[in-house]
Amino acid sequence: MKGGLVTRGGEVTALEGRPTGRESGPETVVAAIRAYVDELVDLGSSRYGAPPDGIGLAVPGIVTTSTAVYSANIGWYDVPVSAFVPPGIPARLGHDVRTGGLAESVLGAGRGVADFLFLAIGTGIAGAVVIGGEPYGGAEGSGGEIGHAPVWPAGEKCACGQIGCLETYASASALVRRYEARSPSRTAATAKDVVSLAVAGEAVAGEVFDEAVEALAISLASYVMLLDPAAIVIGGGLAEAGQTLFLPLEERLSARLTFRERPPLLPAALGMRAGMLGAALLGWQAAGVPDVGRDWSLDVLRRGAVP
Ligand SMILES: [Zn+2]
Repeated sequence: MKGGLVTRGGEVTALEGRPTGRESGPETVVAAIRAYVDELVDLGSSRYGAPPDGIGLAVPGIVTTSTAVYSANIGWYDVPVSAFVPPGIPARLGHDVRTGGLAESVLGAGRGVADFLFLAIGTGIAGAVVIGGEPYGGAEGSGGEIGHAPVWPAGEKCACGQIGCLETYASASALVRRYEARSPSRTAATAKDVVSLAVAGEAVAGEVFDEAVEALAISLASYVMLLDPAAIVIGGGLAEAGQTLFLPLEERLSARLTFRERPPLLPAALGMRAGMLGAALLGWQAAGVPDVGRDWSLDVLRRGAVP
């Protein structure tokens, strides 16, 4: 886990990351988060002369603003926000990817764009549907799971139990798994390797990458038809492929949309910091200052010292 202090003016003090201890069970993770929050509160008190005005936490799984409802990775159920923070400081929870989407919306690639999709393509694929500047959580806190919306209904089985999910074809780990399955004599260490091989004209890597792009185009076409977004912001490890990914994806998506323009695809601006900065915005919301962040400078945010 990562954390930091962020002032109202956008000055960041990032604290060194800590292990969650999830191999020892959910109680250990809750205790580890609580201990990390205590450290941050102490750091804030010594640095600024008072404890933080609010605390925001971005966690995985099904999440509401007040409860970490469920996480398959961590194994917790219904943990209230009060379990993570010292008494007396207002706090708010958010879903990790939706919180990243909030940061991209307020101060990143989605700044000034009211309605967009933040798509994070990494080990898995997660999405945050931002509507009117706010990530949409759905009825029970699990909205935006575009990675588990099927693209090929008679396709491969996904780790989630469903068939043909986008994530099964287009995540970074899917690229590696699918390449290795078809090319047993060669092992590709990373998704980056598969992309490089595809660019170099290697046939199997080319097919696998092509199918990933096609799966993304199918998913994004459905999303565009349903929600008419102004942009699609793409982040996560695979987005680092840059134009190698963006150009064919733009072309495929345009080809699928016959009677409307394709919204622009934009690279995410905040990278690994999106979650922490989004959590800071949640903290300021909890403190009753919801408009904080719109004037933060990206340069200042990227600098953020580690004490
Ligand atoms: Zn799935």
